[in-house]
Amino acid sequence: MDKFNSNKIKELRELNHITQKQLGDLLGISDRAVSKWESGLSKPSGENLISLARIFNVHVESFFEISNDIKTRRDNVVGGMESLTELYKIGRGPSSSHTIGPEKACLIFKKRNKDADRYKAILYGSLAKTGKGHCTDEVIRKTFFPYECEVEFNYIFEDIPHPNTMELISYKKNVEQERVKVFSIGGGSIAFENDDVRMPEKIYKLDRFSSIAKYCEEKNIRLWQYAIENEGKDFSDYMQSIWDAMKISIKNGLMDAGELPGGLGVQKKAKSLFNSQHVDETPVTKENRKVCAYAFAVGEQNASGEKIVTAPTCGAAGIVPAVLYYQQEKNDFSDESIVRALMTAGIIGNLIKTNASISGAECGCQAEVGSACAMAAAALGELFDLSIDKIEYAAEIAIEHHLGLTCDPICGLVQIPCIERNAVAAMRAINAVNLASFLWNTRKISLDKVIQTMKETGYDMHKSYKETSEAGLARIYINK
Ligand code: SF4
Repeated sequence: MDKFNSNKIKELRELNHITQKQLGDLLGISDRAVSKWESGLSKPSGENLISLARIFNVHVESFFEISNDIKTRRDNVVGGMESLTELYKIGRGPSSSHTIGPEKACLIFKKRNKDADRYKAILYGSLAKTGKGHCTDEVIRKTFFPYECEVEFNYIFEDIPHPNTMELISYKKNVEQERVKVFSIGGGSIAFENDDVRMPEKIYKLDRFSSIAKYCEEKNIRLWQYAIENEGKDFSDYMQSIWDAMKISIKNGLMDAGELPGGLGVQKKAKSLFNSQHVDETPVTKENRKVCAYAFAVGEQNASGEKIVTAPTCGAAGIVPAVLYYQQEKNDFSDESIVRALMTAGIIGNLIKTNASISGAECGCQAEVGSACAMAAAALGELFDLSIDKIEYAAEIAIEHHLGLTCDPICGLVQIPCIERNAVAAMRAINAVNLASFLWNTRKISLDKVIQTMKETGYDMHKSYKETSEAGLARIYINK
């Protein structure tokens, strides 16, 4: 049997400039527990190994000493990036980690427990603390329908392997059939404990912007061509379906009115924003208003539990479609051009997902809205045929000026500050690409560096600011 390699955790932790305390916080355990693993006094559980693999972007098997021939084979899958189909997903809002992920987990669990006549789900960590606002319980019950499913919110138990942990249990005639922990690891992706520890295949070999840019330069190709090279020729069709779904959510959102669900009393504003006029309407204010209306449209569809595309998450789903929809309308860009821009944006989103995080529960809103803003800036750069250097700078600016942004949704609902924040970030993406097109040759910070900075900032952020609704606007609002 493969032997656990206690040095590996220390090695990866130091390589990623993370302290034992930061790693412990991320895993919801003490720094003493991390210290014990590193000194070989204890071993992480299977669930913690999954989380460690995710945090360090390595395969779970990297933590074991394995024979040389197997090692050579496995080394090929360590590093690299997953398919963009793991990033762009069509699903129901309002949260990729709180609705799309749990829905997927329940579907799999229901399928493999066909004989069960009753289910139970226990939610822990961020899933418990903001699950009500995110409608996690509703989605779970709907997924198990017509069977009964009790949903329990466990706000107390904190020794969990991942901030978004749930336990699923099936019963037949009141006898327990199966009990399993599942982790909603961001962007709608999930991992089951024990039997499903394998991450999706890493189909991209390169996982740093610098190496991808160098490769593209040598082969004289654009970033979207690099995506097709790795994803295969059918990828354009998949991305067209993503763009179609984005357009539908904007159109539906612009027709909708009334109050958003959840009890906060937030009115849908996309339609009125789209139909209003500024007292001093200039081409610039008109552009801002329309782009914002499109971002609101998607944000409101998401908050209503309608279908949207994770770009890269549900909470930040309005930014990329808003800027692209406006450009298609204004400059008559073909769907083919938009799809290429989406692929370029996807490479940026994938780099952030791989080397930092796109999860608000892991790194705050900088990881969601900041990442989406960078993706939108890169997409615009592609549409405007900017050089890869300029695209990099645009994406870098977009992230840099979201560093430290906390996640504090009021009442756990993806409404305030989320929807308006999508609109502001869409405008910021336009500014970032404009600035980059003028100043690109003066920059000092690379995209890879700012991604690393975002990760470290997110790990240092107090956990109450990471999708728990325990601090920031969420706390002030409740105590007003
Ligand atoms: S504050 Fe940001 S990260 Fe948090 S739920 Fe809203 S959009 Fe997502």
